[in-house]
Amino acid sequence: MVEEVIEAPFQSLLGHSCKIGNVSYFREGKGREWRKRDRAEVDWWHRFRDDCLGLFRGTQADFRVFLETMNSVDPAIKFTSEVDFEKNCVNFLDVTISIDDQGFLRTDLYTKPNTLNQLLLPTSAHPPSVTRGSVYSLAIRLRRICCTDELFELRASQLKQRLLERGYATETVDAGIRKAREVPRQEALKKVERKGGESDEGRQHRLIVEYDRRSSPALAQILKNNFEASCNRDTRLRTLFKKPPKPTFRKGTNLKQMLVKAKIPKAKPANTRGRERENRRGISRCNKGTGRNQCRACTHLTDHPREVIKEVTVFHSGEKIRVEDQINCQTKSFIYLLWNRKDPNKRQYAGQSGAEVAKRTGQHGYDIESQADKPVPNHFRATGGEREDLRMAPVMRVKTNNPWVRLHLERLFINKHNLVEDGINNVL
Ligand SMILES: [Zn+2]
Repeated sequence: MVEEVIEAPFQSLLGHSCKIGNVSYFREGKGREWRKRDRAEVDWWHRFRDDCLGLFRGTQADFRVFLETMNSVDPAIKFTSEVDFEKNCVNFLDVTISIDDQGFLRTDLYTKPNTLNQLLLPTSAHPPSVTRGSVYSLAIRLRRICCTDELFELRASQLKQRLLERGYATETVDAGIRKAREVPRQEALKKVERKGGESDEGRQHRLIVEYDRRSSPALAQILKNNFEASCNRDTRLRTLFKKPPKPTFRKGTNLKQMLVKAKIPKAKPANTRGRERENRRGISRCNKGTGRNQCRACTHLTDHPREVIKEVTVFHSGEKIRVEDQINCQTKSFIYLLWNRKDPNKRQYAGQSGAEVAKRTGQHGYDIESQADKPVPNHFRATGGEREDLRMAPVMRVKTNNPWVRLHLERLFINKHNLVEDGINNVL
């Protein structure tokens, strides 16, 4: 029986991180064992991160068995192949590798079908040399990938089209491609050797700045001119700094960095705001304390220094009014209830003020002390109360400076709780 022998490059994707040891295990261990059994073989094998590329000699069925064998070793490592058996080719990273009729390997550019044209815009804030350089580096990449000059020309013309779509100048594109075309492919394939930082001519000093297209292009010349001038003034400088310093550009903050946060904010327990407000609301004393300099108004607001009054009772009806605002003696613009602590019936008076709670409390206190002819002092006189028996309860803040609104709210309040008949107020 004659076995059809095909030669197919294959690519395998490893589901999990693959240590080099694993690959060599397949190459030296399982691979060898498998090779002995089936007479097909893996010619070579290379790995880039989680992608492997190898050359396999054998039938399609052989290859399937080979893949199964590899997948049986460790359940955490899964190989999949992306071989196109009809065209006898495989895509690896950005290269399509195929075998032609004569059995030679051919390479071409591979782009994923849904790739968008996202080449660097020439209008982007980059030094002009970067834009120019990017054309050349894209073209030289094609020179490396495409195995023939014809393929290179084809891919270069497609690249040119994409660059022109992004708004590159035709001359810039042509110049970059021409420069790449002049590099022989064998030369382009050589590994680029980076020059070391220090050479005989001395170290290159750099000025690192954020790139700004208004000022940065002129920077190199400014540094050079000033370097020359400094060297002429003091020749010792040139012995220390052999080369004029060069600017190096750092990327500035872009809109995306300003507008987009990659981090998702921490999950907050629901209804925090409500709870916070619940903690704050109520009538409380100011922080002057109860010492010698204590606030004169606060003793009229609560019975104890740390007490927070969350609701105020309308005594004659028993209705409780919830205090929704954060109120203390410094709160301005409010509606209040007051009563005499000594009054057994606890009849109440409602009023309003645009001033601070402390000031209004002081006015009532003064009226009681001076026995003025007003509803509140008259009531205190009748029920036997002194200034210290005054109890103030500012039940709500009025969040507007308009006195008419406040007066209207006061009238509604007096009416609602019927304080003319059941309270101390004498007018509605
Ligand atoms: Zn106070």
